[in-house]
Amino acid sequence: MWRGVIEQYREHLPVTADTPVVTLREGNTPLIPADTLAREIGPDAEVYFKFEGLNPTASFKDRGMTMAVSKALEEGTSAVMCASTGNTSASAAAYASRCGLDCLVIIPEGNIALGKLAQALMHGAKVFAVRGNFDDALRMVREISARYRITLVNSVNPFRIEGQKTGAFEICDALGEPPDYHFIPVGNAGNITAYWKGYTEYHAAGRIDRLPRMMGWQAEGAAPIVRGHVVEKPETLATAIRIGNPASWKQAEAARDASGGMIGMVSDADIIAAYQYMARHEGVFTEPACAACVAGLMRLIREGYFRNAVPAVSGPAGKTARKLRIVCILTGHGLKDPDNALKSSGRPMVIDPTIEAVLEHVPLAPRA
Ligand SMILES: *Cc1c(COP(=O)(O)O)cnc(C)c1O
Repeated sequence: MWRGVIEQYREHLPVTADTPVVTLREGNTPLIPADTLAREIGPDAEVYFKFEGLNPTASFKDRGMTMAVSKALEEGTSAVMCASTGNTSASAAAYASRCGLDCLVIIPEGNIALGKLAQALMHGAKVFAVRGNFDDALRMVREISARYRITLVNSVNPFRIEGQKTGAFEICDALGEPPDYHFIPVGNAGNITAYWKGYTEYHAAGRIDRLPRMMGWQAEGAAPIVRGHVVEKPETLATAIRIGNPASWKQAEAARDASGGMIGMVSDADIIAAYQYMARHEGVFTEPACAACVAGLMRLIREGYFRNAVPAVSGPAGKTARKLRIVCILTGHGLKDPDNALKSSGRPMVIDPTIEAVLEHVPLAPRA
Protein backbone atom coordinates (compact mmCIF):
# COMPACT_ATOMS: atom_id res chain seq x y z
CA MET A 1 0.00 0.00 0.00
CA TRP A 2 1.27 3.47 -0.87
CA ARG A 3 1.60 5.42 2.39
CA GLY A 4 2.39 8.91 1.12
CA VAL A 5 5.62 10.69 0.30
CA ILE A 6 6.98 10.92 3.85
CA GLU A 7 6.91 7.15 4.41
CA GLN A 8 8.08 6.41 0.88
CA TYR A 9 11.10 8.73 1.07
CA ARG A 10 11.61 8.99 4.84
CA GLU A 11 15.41 8.50 4.63
CA HIS A 12 15.68 11.60 2.41
CA LEU A 13 13.49 13.83 4.56
CA PRO A 14 14.03 15.72 7.84
CA VAL A 15 11.62 13.61 9.91
CA THR A 16 12.17 11.39 12.94
CA ALA A 17 10.21 8.57 14.54
CA ASP A 18 8.55 11.27 16.69
CA THR A 19 7.23 13.32 13.77
CA PRO A 20 3.42 12.93 13.65
CA VAL A 21 2.84 12.20 9.97
CA VAL A 22 -0.18 13.99 8.55
CA THR A 23 -0.86 12.50 5.15
CA LEU A 24 -3.61 12.09 2.57
CA ARG A 25 -1.42 9.49 0.81
CA GLU A 26 -0.23 12.13 -1.64
CA GLY A 27 2.34 11.44 -4.37
CA ASN A 28 2.75 8.33 -6.54
CA THR A 29 1.32 10.28 -9.48
CA PRO A 30 1.57 8.76 -12.96
CA LEU A 31 3.96 9.62 -15.77
CA ILE A 32 1.55 9.66 -18.68
CA PRO A 33 3.18 9.23 -22.12
CA ALA A 34 2.28 12.17 -24.37
CA ASP A 35 2.71 10.36 -27.66
CA THR A 36 1.07 12.89 -29.95
CA LEU A 37 3.40 15.58 -28.69
CA ALA A 38 6.44 13.29 -28.77
CA ARG A 39 5.79 12.48 -32.46
CA GLU A 40 6.15 16.17 -33.24
CA ILE A 41 9.74 15.95 -32.04
CA GLY A 42 10.50 12.72 -33.85
CA PRO A 43 10.76 8.95 -33.43
CA ASP A 44 13.61 9.21 -30.97
CA ALA A 45 11.80 11.26 -28.36
CA GLU A 46 9.59 10.40 -25.41
CA VAL A 47 7.47 12.99 -23.63
CA TYR A 48 5.81 12.28 -20.28
CA PHE A 49 3.29 14.30 -18.34
CA LYS A 50 3.71 13.91 -14.60
CA PHE A 51 0.11 14.57 -13.67
CA GLU A 52 0.27 16.21 -10.27
CA GLY A 53 -3.40 17.09 -10.59
CA LEU A 54 -4.02 13.52 -9.38
CA ASN A 55 -2.85 14.34 -5.85
CA PRO A 56 -5.51 14.29 -3.08
CA THR A 57 -6.37 18.00 -3.33
CA ALA A 58 -5.59 17.95 -7.06
CA SER A 59 -2.30 19.84 -7.11
CA PHE A 60 1.38 19.20 -6.32
CA LYS A 61 1.08 21.40 -3.22
CA ASP A 62 0.11 18.28 -1.23
CA ARG A 63 3.69 16.96 -1.40
CA GLY A 64 4.96 20.00 0.43
CA MET A 65 1.96 20.33 2.70
CA THR A 66 2.26 16.84 4.22
CA MET A 67 5.76 17.86 5.37
CA ALA A 68 4.92 21.42 6.44
CA VAL A 69 1.85 20.42 8.45
CA SER A 70 3.52 17.36 10.02
CA LYS A 71 6.46 19.52 11.16
CA ALA A 72 4.15 22.28 12.37
CA LEU A 73 2.30 19.72 14.49
CA GLU A 74 5.58 18.32 15.79
CA GLU A 75 6.60 21.81 16.85
CA GLY A 76 3.37 22.21 18.77
CA THR A 77 1.71 24.90 16.70
CA SER A 78 -2.05 25.35 16.87
CA ALA A 79 -2.61 27.13 13.55
CA VAL A 80 -1.15 27.41 10.05
CA MET A 81 -1.37 30.27 7.60
CA CYS A 82 -0.65 30.93 3.94
CA ALA A 83 -1.00 33.40 1.11
CA SER A 84 -2.27 31.65 -1.97
CA THR A 85 -3.19 31.87 -5.62
CA GLY A 86 -5.54 29.02 -4.66
CA ASN A 87 -3.88 25.63 -4.53
CA THR A 88 -1.74 26.23 -1.47
CA SER A 89 -4.85 27.26 0.45
CA ALA A 90 -6.80 24.19 -0.72
CA SER A 91 -3.98 21.92 0.37
CA ALA A 92 -3.21 23.69 3.66
CA ALA A 93 -6.90 23.66 4.59
CA ALA A 94 -7.22 19.94 3.85
CA TYR A 95 -4.13 18.87 5.79
CA ALA A 96 -4.93 21.19 8.71
CA SER A 97 -8.46 19.79 8.91
CA ARG A 98 -7.03 16.29 9.24
CA CYS A 99 -5.12 17.06 12.40
CA GLY A 100 -7.27 19.70 14.07
CA LEU A 101 -5.15 22.76 13.28
CA ASP A 102 -6.79 26.07 12.47
CA CYS A 103 -6.04 27.37 8.98
CA LEU A 104 -5.96 30.98 7.93
CA VAL A 105 -5.73 31.90 4.26
CA ILE A 106 -5.18 35.18 2.40
CA ILE A 107 -6.00 35.19 -1.32
CA PRO A 108 -6.10 37.94 -3.95
CA GLU A 109 -9.72 39.04 -4.36
CA GLY A 110 -11.33 37.93 -7.63
CA ASN A 111 -8.27 36.15 -9.01
CA ILE A 112 -8.66 32.66 -7.68
CA ALA A 113 -10.15 29.73 -9.57
CA LEU A 114 -13.58 28.70 -8.33
CA GLY A 115 -12.73 25.10 -7.42
CA LYS A 116 -9.79 26.14 -5.24
CA LEU A 117 -11.90 28.62 -3.31
CA ALA A 118 -14.54 25.94 -2.77
CA GLN A 119 -11.90 23.56 -1.44
CA ALA A 120 -10.45 25.98 1.13
CA LEU A 121 -13.93 26.87 2.38
CA MET A 122 -15.14 23.26 2.47
CA HIS A 123 -12.16 22.24 4.60
CA GLY A 124 -13.05 24.94 7.10
CA ALA A 125 -10.27 27.48 6.58
CA LYS A 126 -10.80 31.11 7.49
CA VAL A 127 -10.45 32.76 4.10
CA PHE A 128 -9.66 36.45 3.59
CA ALA A 129 -9.72 37.97 0.10
CA VAL A 130 -7.47 41.04 -0.01
CA ARG A 131 -7.87 43.97 -2.33
CA GLY A 132 -4.42 43.32 -3.74
CA ASN A 133 -2.44 40.60 -5.50
CA PHE A 134 -0.59 37.48 -4.35
CA ASP A 135 2.57 39.43 -3.60
CA ASP A 136 0.60 41.66 -1.21
CA ALA A 137 -0.89 38.60 0.46
CA LEU A 138 2.53 36.98 0.88
CA ARG A 139 3.96 40.13 2.43
CA MET A 140 1.07 40.15 4.93
CA VAL A 141 1.38 36.52 6.03
CA ARG A 142 5.16 36.81 6.37
CA GLU A 143 4.72 39.76 8.69
CA ILE A 144 1.91 38.19 10.70
CA SER A 145 3.77 34.90 11.21
CA ALA A 146 6.94 36.76 12.23
CA ARG A 147 5.04 38.59 14.95
CA TYR A 148 2.37 36.13 16.08
CA ARG A 149 2.20 32.45 17.00
CA ILE A 150 1.10 30.86 13.74
CA THR A 151 3.12 28.70 11.31
CA LEU A 152 3.62 29.94 7.76
CA VAL A 153 3.14 27.12 5.22
CA ASN A 154 4.01 28.95 2.01
CA SER A 155 7.00 27.59 0.09
CA VAL A 156 9.29 29.95 2.04
CA ASN A 157 8.77 27.29 4.72
CA PRO A 158 11.72 24.97 4.00
CA PHE A 159 9.68 21.85 4.79
CA ARG A 160 7.46 22.60 1.78
CA ILE A 161 10.50 22.35 -0.50
CA GLU A 162 11.59 19.15 1.25
CA GLY A 163 8.25 17.49 0.55
CA GLN A 164 8.03 18.71 -3.01
CA LYS A 165 11.46 17.36 -3.94
CA THR A 166 9.93 13.85 -3.76
CA GLY A 167 8.44 14.51 -7.19
CA ALA A 168 11.96 14.28 -8.62
CA PHE A 169 12.60 11.02 -6.77
CA GLU A 170 9.42 9.52 -8.21
CA ILE A 171 10.39 10.47 -11.76
CA CYS A 172 13.85 8.92 -11.42
CA ASP A 173 12.45 5.79 -9.75
CA ALA A 174 9.84 5.37 -12.49
CA LEU A 175 12.15 5.98 -15.46
CA GLY A 176 15.18 4.33 -13.90
CA GLU A 177 17.09 7.52 -14.73
CA PRO A 178 16.47 11.26 -14.79
CA PRO A 179 14.86 12.84 -17.87
CA ASP A 180 17.03 14.90 -20.21
CA TYR A 181 14.74 17.91 -19.89
CA HIS A 182 12.44 18.86 -17.03
CA PHE A 183 9.69 21.31 -18.02
CA ILE A 184 7.83 23.10 -15.24
CA PRO A 185 5.66 26.21 -14.79
CA VAL A 186 7.17 28.87 -12.52
CA GLY A 187 5.18 31.13 -10.21
CA ASN A 188 6.63 31.69 -6.76
CA ALA A 189 9.48 29.39 -7.94
CA GLY A 190 9.29 26.96 -5.02
CA ASN A 191 8.60 23.93 -7.18
CA ILE A 192 11.48 24.37 -9.63
CA THR A 193 13.70 24.84 -6.57
CA ALA A 194 12.33 21.67 -4.98
CA TYR A 195 12.72 19.49 -8.09
CA TRP A 196 16.30 20.64 -8.58
CA LYS A 197 17.02 19.85 -4.92
CA GLY A 198 15.52 16.38 -5.41
CA TYR A 199 17.56 15.63 -8.52
CA THR A 200 20.83 16.88 -7.02
CA GLU A 201 20.27 14.91 -3.80
CA TYR A 202 19.53 11.70 -5.73
CA HIS A 203 22.67 12.36 -7.76
CA ALA A 204 24.75 12.89 -4.63
CA ALA A 205 23.32 9.67 -3.16
CA GLY A 206 24.42 7.76 -6.28
CA ARG A 207 20.85 6.94 -7.32
CA ILE A 208 21.23 8.69 -10.71
CA ASP A 209 24.36 9.40 -12.72
CA ARG A 210 23.45 12.68 -14.41
CA LEU A 211 21.08 15.63 -14.04
CA PRO A 212 18.30 17.04 -16.21
CA ARG A 213 18.19 20.52 -17.70
CA MET A 214 15.63 22.59 -15.80
CA MET A 215 13.25 24.39 -18.18
CA GLY A 216 11.01 26.83 -16.30
CA TRP A 217 8.13 28.79 -17.85
CA GLN A 218 6.41 31.98 -16.77
CA ALA A 219 3.48 33.84 -18.37
CA GLU A 220 4.48 36.96 -20.31
CA GLY A 221 2.43 39.23 -18.04
CA ALA A 222 4.00 37.71 -14.93
CA ALA A 223 7.59 36.99 -15.93
CA PRO A 224 9.83 38.73 -13.40
CA ILE A 225 12.66 36.21 -13.68
CA VAL A 226 12.76 36.42 -17.48
CA ARG A 227 12.56 40.21 -17.47
CA GLY A 228 15.00 40.59 -14.60
CA HIS A 229 12.82 42.86 -12.50
CA VAL A 230 9.81 42.73 -10.19
CA VAL A 231 6.47 42.98 -12.03
CA GLU A 232 4.28 45.31 -9.95
CA LYS A 233 0.96 44.30 -11.52
CA PRO A 234 1.28 40.72 -12.76
CA GLU A 235 -1.41 39.66 -15.24
CA THR A 236 -2.23 36.28 -16.73
CA LEU A 237 -5.27 34.05 -16.94
CA ALA A 238 -3.08 31.32 -15.45
CA THR A 239 -3.80 32.56 -11.94
CA ALA A 240 -1.59 29.94 -10.24
CA ILE A 241 1.49 31.65 -11.70
CA ARG A 242 0.23 35.23 -11.47
CA ILE A 243 3.16 36.35 -9.31
CA GLY A 244 5.37 39.39 -9.78
CA ASN A 245 8.02 38.89 -7.11
CA PRO A 246 8.76 35.18 -6.57
CA ALA A 247 10.01 34.18 -3.11
CA SER A 248 12.46 31.60 -4.53
CA TRP A 249 13.72 33.82 -7.38
CA LYS A 250 17.43 33.30 -6.66
CA GLN A 251 17.06 29.54 -6.18
CA ALA A 252 15.23 29.25 -9.50
CA GLU A 253 18.04 31.09 -11.28
CA ALA A 254 20.57 28.84 -9.57
CA ALA A 255 18.71 25.71 -10.75
CA ARG A 256 18.54 27.09 -14.29
CA ASP A 257 22.22 27.98 -14.39
CA ALA A 258 23.62 24.90 -12.66
CA SER A 259 21.58 22.59 -14.92
CA GLY A 260 22.30 24.39 -18.20
CA GLY A 261 18.56 24.99 -18.59
CA MET A 262 16.46 28.07 -19.21
CA ILE A 263 13.54 30.09 -17.87
CA GLY A 264 11.36 31.47 -20.64
CA MET A 265 7.95 33.03 -21.06
CA VAL A 266 4.85 32.32 -23.12
CA SER A 267 1.79 34.42 -23.95
CA ASP A 268 -1.68 33.72 -22.60
CA ALA A 269 -2.70 32.79 -26.16
CA ASP A 270 0.07 30.15 -26.22
CA ILE A 271 -1.05 28.93 -22.80
CA ILE A 272 -4.64 28.49 -23.97
CA ALA A 273 -3.48 26.70 -27.14
CA ALA A 274 -1.41 24.22 -25.11
CA TYR A 275 -4.23 23.83 -22.55
CA GLN A 276 -6.61 22.83 -25.35
CA TYR A 277 -4.01 20.66 -27.10
CA MET A 278 -3.45 18.57 -23.98
CA ALA A 279 -7.16 18.13 -23.41
CA ARG A 280 -8.00 17.33 -27.04
CA HIS A 281 -5.01 15.27 -28.14
CA GLU A 282 -3.63 13.68 -24.99
CA GLY A 283 -6.79 13.29 -22.88
CA VAL A 284 -5.29 15.24 -20.01
CA PHE A 285 -7.23 18.14 -18.48
CA THR A 286 -5.05 20.48 -16.46
CA GLU A 287 -5.44 23.97 -15.16
CA PRO A 288 -4.02 26.75 -17.38
CA ALA A 289 -0.79 27.28 -15.36
CA CYS A 290 0.43 23.78 -16.27
CA ALA A 291 -0.05 24.59 -19.91
CA ALA A 292 2.66 27.26 -19.62
CA CYS A 293 5.37 24.61 -19.58
CA VAL A 294 3.75 22.61 -22.38
CA ALA A 295 3.41 25.82 -24.41
CA GLY A 296 7.13 26.37 -23.82
CA LEU A 297 7.89 22.87 -25.02
CA MET A 298 5.69 23.30 -28.11
CA ARG A 299 7.48 26.53 -28.94
CA LEU A 300 10.92 24.95 -28.66
CA ILE A 301 9.74 22.06 -30.87
CA ARG A 302 8.58 24.56 -33.51
CA GLU A 303 11.92 26.33 -33.34
CA GLY A 304 13.78 23.05 -33.93
CA TYR A 305 15.42 23.17 -30.51
CA PHE A 306 15.52 19.38 -30.19
CA ARG A 307 16.94 18.66 -33.64
CA ASN A 308 20.07 16.56 -33.18
CA ALA A 309 19.33 16.37 -29.47
CA VAL A 310 19.17 12.56 -29.21
CA PRO A 311 21.62 11.72 -26.46
CA ALA A 312 24.33 9.09 -26.75
CA VAL A 313 25.32 6.70 -24.00
CA SER A 314 28.60 4.90 -23.63
CA GLY A 315 28.23 1.13 -23.42
CA PRO A 316 30.51 -1.87 -23.91
CA ALA A 317 30.06 -1.58 -27.69
CA GLY A 318 30.93 2.11 -27.77
CA LYS A 319 28.42 4.93 -28.12
CA THR A 320 24.81 4.09 -28.82
CA ALA A 321 21.91 6.49 -29.14
CA ARG A 322 19.11 6.38 -26.60
CA LYS A 323 15.77 8.12 -26.64
CA LEU A 324 15.47 11.74 -25.66
CA ARG A 325 13.29 11.94 -22.55
CA ILE A 326 11.28 14.99 -21.61
CA VAL A 327 9.07 15.29 -18.53
CA CYS A 328 6.49 18.08 -18.10
CA ILE A 329 5.13 18.71 -14.61
CA LEU A 330 1.37 19.22 -14.85
CA THR A 331 0.92 20.90 -11.52
CA GLY A 332 -2.87 20.99 -11.05
CA HIS A 333 -6.16 19.53 -12.27
CA GLY A 334 -8.35 21.23 -14.86
CA LEU A 335 -11.52 20.78 -12.82
CA LYS A 336 -10.28 23.43 -10.40
CA ASP A 337 -10.86 26.14 -12.97
CA PRO A 338 -14.16 25.48 -14.77
CA ASP A 339 -14.47 29.15 -15.82
CA ASN A 340 -11.38 29.10 -18.01
CA ALA A 341 -12.34 25.70 -19.40
CA LEU A 342 -15.76 26.88 -20.49
CA LYS A 343 -14.39 30.17 -21.82
CA SER A 344 -11.93 28.36 -24.05
CA SER A 345 -14.19 25.56 -25.28
CA GLY A 346 -17.68 27.04 -25.52
CA ARG A 347 -21.03 25.81 -24.27
CA PRO A 348 -23.18 22.84 -25.29
CA MET A 349 -25.69 23.35 -28.13
CA VAL A 350 -29.26 23.52 -26.84
CA ILE A 351 -31.63 21.42 -28.96
CA ASP A 352 -35.16 20.04 -29.01
CA PRO A 353 -35.49 16.45 -27.72
CA THR A 354 -35.55 14.84 -31.19
CA ILE A 355 -33.12 12.68 -33.15
CA GLU A 356 -33.38 15.09 -36.09
CA ALA A 357 -32.09 17.92 -33.96
CA VAL A 358 -28.90 15.95 -33.24
CA LEU A 359 -28.48 14.83 -36.86
CA GLU A 360 -28.78 18.39 -38.07
CA HIS A 361 -25.47 19.10 -36.36
CA VAL A 362 -23.74 15.71 -36.74
CA PRO A 363 -24.29 13.89 -40.03
CA LEU A 364 -24.15 10.21 -39.05
CA ALA A 365 -24.13 7.42 -41.67
CA PRO A 366 -27.12 5.03 -41.31
CA ARG A 367 -26.42 1.38 -40.39
CA ALA A 368 -26.46 -0.98 -43.39
C1 LIG B 1 1.58 26.76 -7.09
C2 LIG B 1 1.36 26.39 -8.51
C3 LIG B 1 2.29 26.69 -9.52
C4 LIG B 1 3.53 27.48 -9.26
O1 LIG B 1 4.46 26.80 -8.45
P1 LIG B 1 5.59 27.64 -7.71
O2 LIG B 1 6.20 26.69 -6.78
O3 LIG B 1 4.89 28.77 -7.03
O4 LIG B 1 6.51 28.14 -8.78
C5 LIG B 1 2.05 26.24 -10.79
N1 LIG B 1 0.93 25.56 -11.09
C6 LIG B 1 0.00 25.28 -10.17
C7 LIG B 1 -1.22 24.54 -10.58
C8 LIG B 1 0.19 25.68 -8.85
O5 LIG B 1 -0.75 25.39 -7.94
